[in-house]
This record gives sequence, C-alpha cells and structure tokens, in this order.
Amino acid sequence: MIIEPKIRGFVCITAHPEGCAKKVQKEIEVAKATQVNGGPKKVLVIGSSTGYGLSSRVTAAFSCGADTLGVFFERPSSNGKPASAGWYNTVAFENAALESGLYAKSINGDAFSDDVKATVVETIKKDWGQVDCVIYSLASPRRTDPKTGETFKSCLKPIGSEFKNRSLDTNKGEILDVSIQPASDEDIQNTVKVMGGEDWELWMDALSEAGVLASEAKTVAYSYIGPEVTWPVYKNGTIGTAKLDVERAAKAIQERHQLEAFVSVNKAVVTQASSAIPVVPLYISILFKEMVVKGTHEGCIEQIVRLFKDRLYEGALQLDSEGRIRIDDWEMNPEVQEAVAQVWPKITNENLRELSDFDRYQKEFLELFGFGVEGVNYSESVEVERAIPGLIA
Ligand code: NAD
Repeated sequence: MIIEPKIRGFVCITAHPEGCAKKVQKEIEVAKATQVNGGPKKVLVIGSSTGYGLSSRVTAAFSCGADTLGVFFERPSSNGKPASAGWYNTVAFENAALESGLYAKSINGDAFSDDVKATVVETIKKDWGQVDCVIYSLASPRRTDPKTGETFKSCLKPIGSEFKNRSLDTNKGEILDVSIQPASDEDIQNTVKVMGGEDWELWMDALSEAGVLASEAKTVAYSYIGPEVTWPVYKNGTIGTAKLDVERAAKAIQERHQLEAFVSVNKAVVTQASSAIPVVPLYISILFKEMVVKGTHEGCIEQIVRLFKDRLYEGALQLDSEGRIRIDDWEMNPEVQEAVAQVWPKITNENLRELSDFDRYQKEFLELFGFGVEGVNYSESVEVERAIPGLIA
C-alpha cells in the first residue's frame, strides 16, 4: 500500500517501513564511524525501538560490536495497516545487525511486567550467560504495578502554582499561550510511579538475583534538566520529581548490586516522548538554530555515541555535583542558552521560521515515523507486513 503520514495531535499514527529503515541505516553509519574501545559486549536495552534507546542499541552494536537484546512496546501491522515506527526501526536494526554477524533479539511487551523481566532473564541465561551493560530508556504514559495490578498514569504538570508560557502548535506552526493547572499530590505520586526509578531497580534486582549481571556491568538511565524556561513544567514539575527518583534509584542500585549505575542527563531532541511536552517543542526549535550555528547540533545517535565513547568506556565520566553524567553539556553551554533566552520573548507567528529552526523540528518529527526521508519513493506501494527476525515474544 501507499502510506501517508496521519498526524493526530503530537503523534503520527502511520509509519513508513522504508523511511524508518533509511533513518536507522543513517544512525548505523554514524555509529560505525566512531569505534569504542573496551565497550560492552552483551547489552540489554529497555526501550530500544525509538529515540535514545534505539540509538543506544545502534551504538552498542555498531560502535562497540556488541550483541543486543531489546525490549519495547510496539504495534505490529494488522489488517493491512502499517506497524508503528519502533517496529519498523527494529526490523531494520536487526537485519543490519544479523548481516554484520551480531546477535540481536527482541521482546515486544510491557517492560513493567514480571513476565517480560522473566523472559529477558531466561534469554540471557540461555544465550549469553551474563549481560555487561543495561540501558534503561523507557518513556511511558502509564505503568501497571506488577505486585498490585494497579495502573498509574503520569502527567506533565507544574507543582505548586499554575504555569503560563508560550508554546507551539507543531502541526499549524503557531505560537500559543498555554496555562497548566498545578499537579495534585496524587498526580505527583503517580508520575513518580510511572517515570521514577522503581522499575529500573526491579529490573536490576531481577537480573542480579538470577546471577546474569556481569561483575563489571554498568547500567545507565536517561534524564533531562534543560533551561529555566521549561523548569516549571519539566525539572520542577511532576516529571522532574520522577527524574529525581531515578537519581535516588541509581544510588540504590549502586549500593545494592555493587556496580556502576548512572543517570545520564541528555540533550533535548525530537522524539515521540519530547513532542508531547508543552513548551519543549518551541524551545527545541530555537535551540536547534543556535546549535546549528555553533556547529554543535546533535541528534540521539550523536549524543549516545559521545556518551559511550567519551564518558562510559574511553574518556572520563565527568560527573556533576549530583553524581550525574552530563551529555547535555553542549546544549547547556552559556552562550547557547543566552542566545535562546534572547530569542524566546521575541518569537511570534510571523518570525517563527526566521528566529527558530522550526523547519528542522518538523522534518525531524516526520522522520521519526519514516516520512520525508531522502531517497524514499513515497508514491510507491510498499509491503506493510515486516517480520522482526529475532522476535522472542
Ligand atoms: P521514546 O518515546 O522515543 O522511546 C520510548 C521507548 O520506550 C520506546 O522504545 C517504547 O517502545 C518504549 N516503551 C514505552 N513504554 C513501554 C513499556 N510499557 N514496555 C516496554 N517498552 C516501552 O522516548 P525518548 O525521548 O527516547 O526517551 C527515553 C528516555 O530518554 C526517557 O527517560 C526520557 O526522559 C529521556 N530523555 C529524553 C530526552 C528528549 O529530548 N527526548 C532528553 C533527555 C532525556
């Protein structure tokens, strides 16, 4: 069938298999260009099908030569309808990994569940013996607690007072004023339950109890801090509170399992998760322009290659005062932030494309779903059903 983008709010409900494959191939080329000495060899990536998790899997395989096991929650094609982008990304990744002689298997299911953890443990026991790197890169709006069966929903709200600022309707390219009511205590607790560190701890406990964690294993979870203009809705809001809990979990994992457990603060990029956050798409559009001018623009793959090479495996970790890895250093460069702060109050519907790189934002957003990718003939009919070669469940 001929597949066209169908955008609903901040998601695109269709995806193009050829476009996704080309995007994954581009990431693979970036990763191949930077080899990491002493990198991991058996890598588990939780949330491996899109965004930072996909780039972590690509980097592990193609910069480090690692075998990878990926966990994600994606929709296969059904009744002639296209699969989700993360499904097609995984098809492309696994095919490339297999061609390069690398082991690649995947589990499509709820990473928060005991069942998926058990399947991963069994697979590692059977196929690898042990895992030497675990990347935790989930972004989810809800979580069912495996012990109680209760489902919690996360939210993106300020804490304490109403938040008013400018935002961007990314479909229409229009600046909007947004106001978000403050979170209730329950909203805060629920967001911590979903996006906090508890599930990461459960994963590491399960792997450790099963004896499948190598003694030199490292584990990393991703976080974001960003500039003050986003703090009410990010760092100081419900999601930031959950991210503080991820930092708590890193320390708990380090102590309990005697291994290196880090939070890496990554830069703002266009992903399915970030496009849902109020204010952030406008900030990213302005940020892109400034970082392109400075020659420091990075996407997920450039960030993660730098994380693996310069921080985790070859260079120094360069932890901040809170013990976090800061790979958002180029984003937070004072000159970049000053330039963004200057532009922020001046931006209008009329000058949006001049003062920000909204065109790049929109292009990257469509590319997340395999659309607008160079070299793809979108008028050609394509097969929507694609198998993931190493799909276990
Ligand atoms: P994303 O939406 O691109 O990826 C989320 C991944 O989680 C996908 O692989 C998805 O399949 C998987 N997933 C979601 N729910 C699942 C479930 N129940 N079971 C199994 N898999 C599930 O998100 P992203 O932006 O790459 O975010 C990943 C991490 O990086 C998050 O912790 C996020 O806070 C952090 N981060 C993102 C940014 C950014 O700008 N996007 C910046 C810094 C840090």
